[in-house]
Order: sequence, then structure tokens, then C-alpha cells
Amino acid sequence: MVLKIVQSGDPVLRARARALTAQEIAGAEVQQLIELMRETMRDAPGVGLAAPQIGLPLQLAVIEDVAEVEATERTPVPFHVIINPRLVLGGEPVDFFEGCLSVDGYQAVVPRARTVHVEACDHRGEPVTIDARGWYARILQHEIDHLNGTLYIDRMRTRTFTTARNAARYLAGVSVPELLARLGETAS
Ligand code: ZN
Repeated sequence: MVLKIVQSGDPVLRARARALTAQEIAGAEVQQLIELMRETMRDAPGVGLAAPQIGLPLQLAVIEDVAEVEATERTPVPFHVIINPRLVLGGEPVDFFEGCLSVDGYQAVVPRARTVHVEACDHRGEPVTIDARGWYARILQHEIDHLNGTLYIDRMRTRTFTTARNAARYLAGVSVPELLARLGETAS
């Protein structure tokens, strides 16, 4: 079963999600929710999905990435869950294109910290710490933003905002620094 992904404009995407209790995490409802979110993320397809995106203001997100792209320091990340996360940003900001299943059909360049440190609970409620860099660090920042009512459009370089279709039409083979120069933007 695949859940409906809500789109920008839905108030749930602008609310601060509430933390889950240890009891809730262990309960059947949250465990079932995790399974449904995994299926929904894979179906979309996406590399992350936060509970507010399926209409639930809860501090829970699922993440999984199978791609490998050297230019964006993107490496496969096995399926996992982050619950009640705390995020510490590190490294210098890096510019790259980003999209969101809740802002369907668009993308934009978003500066994000190159590295992050995250403390969270996993799907069993066990504490975990994650030190990530590159694309995985970007995914974590994007998903944790969702739990705080923030979308990438709040952080994007607005002049780079494009439909996915126009990105394919006009930006194939154009590097981000090239695009920023073209638009008169200063790189991070
Ligand atoms: Zn998103």
C-alpha cells in the first residue's frame, strides 16, 4: 500500500512535528507506519520521506539511497529510520540541485552543510549517532527540515528554481558553478 504524499500548501508541512515516546516507537502503529513509509518512498521514488509528508506531524523520517554519483559525494545508504533527531551542521556549504516529493515537479540549487552530526533514535527506539557527508548529509538536512516545518524552497537560491522539465531541457551537462555564474550568483 502506498500513502498519499501531501503537497506544499498543506499546513502539516509547516507545523513543527512532535517527538515520539519510546512506547509509541515500540508500538504496532508506528512499526506499521514505518513499513508504509518505506513502500511509499520506494514507489515515489525518493531517497527520503518524512512523516509530515504523509500528513502526520511526527518526528520520524525514512531514508534509503541506492545511487552512486561521485560529483555530489553520493554513495548508497541502506534503509533506515530516524526518530526525534537532533542535527549539528559541519563543514562548508555546498551548492547542489535538490527536489522534494512535496514540491512535485520542481527543483532548485540549495546550499547545504557538507557534513552533519545527527543524534536520533532508530526504528527500535535505540539511540544512534550518524556522521554523514556529501549527499547523505544533504538528505538528512532535508528530512530533518521537514520535521521542523521547513521546505527546501525556504533555503534555495531562488533564481535557480526550475521545473524538472526545464532542467532537463536547459541544464543537461551544465554544472552548478556554471549555472550560478550564468545567473549572476556567487558560489558558496
Ligand atoms: Zn522533501
